[in-house]
Amino acid sequence: MKFANVIVDISHEKLDRPFGYIIPDELEKEITVGTAVIIPFGKGNRQVKGYVIEITDQPSFDISKMKEIMAVEEGAAKVESQLINLAYWIKENYGSTMNQALKTVIPVKNKIRNIEKKTIVLNLNSEQLEEKIKQYKKKNAKARLRLLEELKINNRMARELVVDKLNVSPSTLKSMEQLGDIVIEKTINYRNPIELKEQPEYDIVLNENQRKVSEAIKETMDFKKKDKVNVHLIHGITGSGKTEVYMDLIDYTIKKGKSVIVLIPEIALTYQTVMRFTRRFKEKVSIINSRLSSGERYDQFERAKNGDITIMIGPRSALFTPFSNLGLIVIDEEHESAYKSESVPKYHAIEVAQKRAYDTGATVVLGSATPSLESYYKAKNGTYILHKLTTREKGNLPSVSIVDLREELQQGNKSIFSNKLQTLINDRLEKKEQTMLFINRRGFAGFVSCRDCGKAIKCPHCDVTLKLHNNKKLVCHYCGYTTKLPTKCPECGSTYLGGFGIGTQKIEMLIKQLCPTARVLRMDADTTSTKGSHDEILSAFANHQADILVGTQMIVKGHDFPDVTLVGVLAADMSLYASDYTAAEKTFQLLCQAAGRAGRGKNPGEVVIQTYAPDNYSIIAASHQDYDEFFEQEIVYRKLMGYPPVANMVSVLLQCSGESELEMATESVVKLIRKVKEQKYNELFVIGPADPPVSKINDIYRKIIYLKSDNRVHLIRLKDYLEYVINSSQNFKNINVQFDFKA
Ligand code: ADP
Ligand code: ZN
Ligand code: ZN
Repeated sequence: MKFANVIVDISHEKLDRPFGYIIPDELEKEITVGTAVIIPFGKGNRQVKGYVIEITDQPSFDISKMKEIMAVEEGAAKVESQLINLAYWIKENYGSTMNQALKTVIPVKNKIRNIEKKTIVLNLNSEQLEEKIKQYKKKNAKARLRLLEELKINNRMARELVVDKLNVSPSTLKSMEQLGDIVIEKTINYRNPIELKEQPEYDIVLNENQRKVSEAIKETMDFKKKDKVNVHLIHGITGSGKTEVYMDLIDYTIKKGKSVIVLIPEIALTYQTVMRFTRRFKEKVSIINSRLSSGERYDQFERAKNGDITIMIGPRSALFTPFSNLGLIVIDEEHESAYKSESVPKYHAIEVAQKRAYDTGATVVLGSATPSLESYYKAKNGTYILHKLTTREKGNLPSVSIVDLREELQQGNKSIFSNKLQTLINDRLEKKEQTMLFINRRGFAGFVSCRDCGKAIKCPHCDVTLKLHNNKKLVCHYCGYTTKLPTKCPECGSTYLGGFGIGTQKIEMLIKQLCPTARVLRMDADTTSTKGSHDEILSAFANHQADILVGTQMIVKGHDFPDVTLVGVLAADMSLYASDYTAAEKTFQLLCQAAGRAGRGKNPGEVVIQTYAPDNYSIIAASHQDYDEFFEQEIVYRKLMGYPPVANMVSVLLQCSGESELEMATESVVKLIRKVKEQKYNELFVIGPADPPVSKINDIYRKIIYLKSDNRVHLIRLKDYLEYVINSSQNFKNINVQFDFKA
């Protein structure tokens, strides 16, 4: 006998209350995870609709008290079933509870109900109307007469007006509706995050290269192989017009009556981008982003379900838009790390997109100027179909030079700006052209340390240094702990404290000293924390209200400023020191993106990369803007070390508030893993246990184990086994475990 756990209202906040039912034998074949079923529910055995979220061999309650599923609901909203099934797949492949997976996939209904609008519409032709007016005159039905006389002039009226101004009571309206005099129309007023503006007609015609790529993709959409996901990777330099190709494919897809999801990193989802899409597709487009209220988000998903919109643009979570006839998923800037969820379930949007495409027959199109190693590897081995765009439609590729900061120092220049960069900045100021200065400070914002004992000031709750903000406060970037900058070293009492590492604020100050007449804008996490500030800074810069924009990675992503002719990368190697096998890849991507900001208009662009490691292959390849050059060298390293994409890897993160308890638990987990390796999976490679880069967050200690294997399925099975042991044994009751599949 089989049993099903069923949830009754999937949009209810309490997704976590499944009810157990018996699956009758005759329905066993039809029921899978996601199936909509009719069940007897509650005291009166009301018949209600529910969704199966799990099928088990063990009953979750006393069998004698369990009821049977009555039927499979025919013609139920297929998209819900699809999404529940997707949640199940996510749970299985990445490790989480079904509830966590469901919450990822299905938006929770907001407490604020929909705003309903009612309109009173006349339901009589002119003859009938005159007849009715006569009748009501006879009966002296004044309110009814008032309404009909009004509707005679204007045959639609807002219900509010009728009730408030004409003073017709709701009960009168109801009875008139029953008599067939009027119809009360109900429409839902969805909250719409996009304000449509008058825009010039869309008039771009694809160039020859773009057209070839687009045609090739369309062909595969028309003649798709069965049981194979159709995935394309467009490797196109910045400004080559990838977005125009996406839009051509979107147009093709919606003309066939299908819907489209476009994923864009949140940070690049600016007013400008949205306007490009609405210019062409008008009111068919909606967006999702983290700045929308939950009511707004919910409404956008409802609109997608109703067919009110056919194109949804947004970050990772837009992937779960409930379109019932999905035709295309576009993932722009596919290399972005934001496509990987950082909380459980730690899914990757590119993989989930392929699963959803597989289930629905949709096509997936990935695009990037610097594809992730994973995607390019798959494109080269034929898993994806590769397309290239190698020329810019507007402007030319910038010329790039590398400046060795060690040499600068030898020549006596202690400034953060090399001589060459200083000369060029001044030249641009004279020519009234714009400059962007990029500081790659991932994990390297200014911390404070003692010049006597050398200790850095750390967060009392986390194993990280506190970062200096506005020169007065120290902030923990992991738990938010904030404190005043001490006057004395907490370790040795010395008053000789100094800030280390250069942040954007410091650069802003230094550039103002260097060029007192320059108008400088700064963009980083501090200046963009309030709503709208992000767009404000970008549009101020676009409107020439500043000559120089200083910023973090935020400024290099996808923005199009035609008058920027100089980009300075102040310290290219900072991200090379990240303790992660993707450090070189991240560095290369950031440098290429930064370089891609220069020379997008009519004047040629120049890029200066300042570095202490001018011989590093990722920096050299970036200076040539040559992706293949980088790929060929990086893939050798990955092969040598057995890192993704050549092998599969998963990290197992164990967390616990007790330090020694964590150590013991970690030891036993490693033992379990080694046993599995000996008995079943010989190819398994175990690294650790080790301290993760941050070994304590918010007073919770952390340990990490890395597992590598050629066989992804083995890693998933091992995850299932560990999850099972940890969740069912008392020894692990205080241990939290999280899995993170790398590729
Ligand atoms: P990418 O997405 O590859 O960075 P975009 O699609 O943003 O490139 O294109 C860069 C600029 O070139 C945009 O302003 C775009 O409108 C313009 N552009 C691209 N293709 C064409 C074309 N075929 N005709 C005219 N302008 C184009
Ligand atoms: Zn902290
Ligand atoms: Zn000290």
